[in-house]
Amino acid sequence: MKNCDFIAAQLIEWYSDNRRDLPWRNTSDPYKIWISEIILQQTRVAQGLEYYNRFVERFPDVQALASADEQEVLKLWQGLGYYSRARNLHLAAKTIFSEYNAVFPKDYQAVLNLKGIGEYTAAAIVSFAWNMPYPVVDGNVFRFLSRLFAINEPIDTNKGKKQFTELAGKLMDKTQAGLFNQAIMEFGALQCTPASPDCPVCPFQSRCPAYATNSVEQFPVKQNKTQTKDLYLYYFHIHDGRQVWINQRHHKGIWQNLFEFPLIEAETSLSFEQLSEIIRQKSWLPGTTGYSFRLIIENKKHILSHRILHASFYEVHMEKLPAITEFISIDIRNWEEYPLHRLMQYYLETTANGKSYSILKIPFAG
Ligand code: SF4
Repeated sequence: MKNCDFIAAQLIEWYSDNRRDLPWRNTSDPYKIWISEIILQQTRVAQGLEYYNRFVERFPDVQALASADEQEVLKLWQGLGYYSRARNLHLAAKTIFSEYNAVFPKDYQAVLNLKGIGEYTAAAIVSFAWNMPYPVVDGNVFRFLSRLFAINEPIDTNKGKKQFTELAGKLMDKTQAGLFNQAIMEFGALQCTPASPDCPVCPFQSRCPAYATNSVEQFPVKQNKTQTKDLYLYYFHIHDGRQVWINQRHHKGIWQNLFEFPLIEAETSLSFEQLSEIIRQKSWLPGTTGYSFRLIIENKKHILSHRILHASFYEVHMEKLPAITEFISIDIRNWEEYPLHRLMQYYLETTANGKSYSILKIPFAG
């Protein structure tokens, strides 16, 4: 038996003994496979499972998703993070609805052209749904192959990606492409894990150079370390006990189209005096004095892939919330209707939906 055949056969055998039983593995519906793949990007299986079940229950097919309101899609996604995934799912469903008569296109290139679908996801969909021989190369596959073949080429370069994709394609059992792809990903996820892979019981142990040279932890090789930047977010919970101001994030970037309190964003930490001055310049509050600012949450850290966020929340109670075109005024009982990002959720949970606060008071210095 050739080396490639041996590896594919071992992976498939291992998979049949060790696979996790997950709902998207028991379907060949490309729509459901697509939803699961998008949810599982950047999300652990245990957390993703709950979202997947809710999502496909509410939107069981392309048509249901395409005809939904974006706000409802985002609301269902709330808490998963990386909200561009939900927006792109929604846009791609509309494309499938209008251009393919609501039928998922059975063509790799057409799938790849859909919004939010890259090579990995396209390969996963067409191989799992229709057994098309496109190799999947996700983080699990990179890790496993880099160790098994002691590949020093960085995985975050075009050259590296090409090399790994070609290798996965060579190893693939083309008669059962979907099964092979599931097996190699699951092997990386459960057996050849990032920290403490289970080498003593690995079926490839005797031919694994990374194990033989005690260099498992050196693989995979990466060229670039992600640069992270600090960002300071100052939120202002401005209300009159019945109505509260919120704002929708329209600009591209994190949390696009989600709702939040009025915000001052800065690349360095700001003092309360500096914040007061900015609020005065923005004319958020009528007049300049007579408001008590209460610091409810100070410097809550939230880490994203490229950013370290430091969020602080101030509460400002007014007699009557004035009309201001910059913000939307909503009934404080209606939070549930609005898709919110993690930090807003954190604030509302911490303060029992904005109703309980600490007692630290800071006078407005504007
Ligand atoms: S021996 Fe260890 S490092 Fe090598 S493939 Fe198996 S689990 Fe991965």
